[in-house]
Amino acid sequence: MKSEQFIRNDQFNFIKRQVLQLVSGHATVNDQHVINAMESLAIEKTEDLFTGLTPIQRNILNRIVKVADKETAEQYLVEIEAYIIPFKELSEQKLQKLFPKVKKMKLPKERLNYNRMSFLSYDDFGTKRRYIVVPARKGMIGLTGTYEETKTKQICAICNRLTPVCMFITKTKGDIAGNYTKKGNYICRDSEDCNHHLLSLDKVYEFVENIK
Ligand SMILES: [Zn+2]
Repeated sequence: MKSEQFIRNDQFNFIKRQVLQLVSGHATVNDQHVINAMESLAIEKTEDLFTGLTPIQRNILNRIVKVADKETAEQYLVEIEAYIIPFKELSEQKLQKLFPKVKKMKLPKERLNYNRMSFLSYDDFGTKRRYIVVPARKGMIGLTGTYEETKTKQICAICNRLTPVCMFITKTKGDIAGNYTKKGNYICRDSEDCNHHLLSLDKVYEFVENIK
């Protein structure tokens, strides 16, 4: 029986990390007891990501125990990728609402993989401006700021990996009218790569709260 989509992109990334750990475990450990323990831990960690799993969903997730090498890992990931809840595509009208101060918002021209996105991000290369549509604790919000490329790798504020980043600079209204505060955050230069590696929405929420 087919189940509804129930896995968020960040949860998929987390599961994928468990899968990769299992593959390397199988490659380096011979002791069956240790393997069994690793498998139980993988099940526990993946189930912990969810609340109120149905038996079917639990069954789908628990097939992680079949992962033994690169090939079975690939099979499992392809299988569960079908259950990812895609990022909700935005009309230009909706996008405009998220960026009321921007005159004319246009959707990015490049084709985006909405299946593997926790947030939508694209750059206007001409003005060196980045637009991000990102989930906050209360629904989607739009963030915009300029970006400056940096020479060194830094920790990304969203996925928390050491990666090639850019400094994303946003302006927020201060307490006194007409006053602005500028904030800078290192975030992945490559947003697609960031989306493929962020492991928790909490980090995304923190990033948003830090800017707002
Ligand atoms: Zn990142």
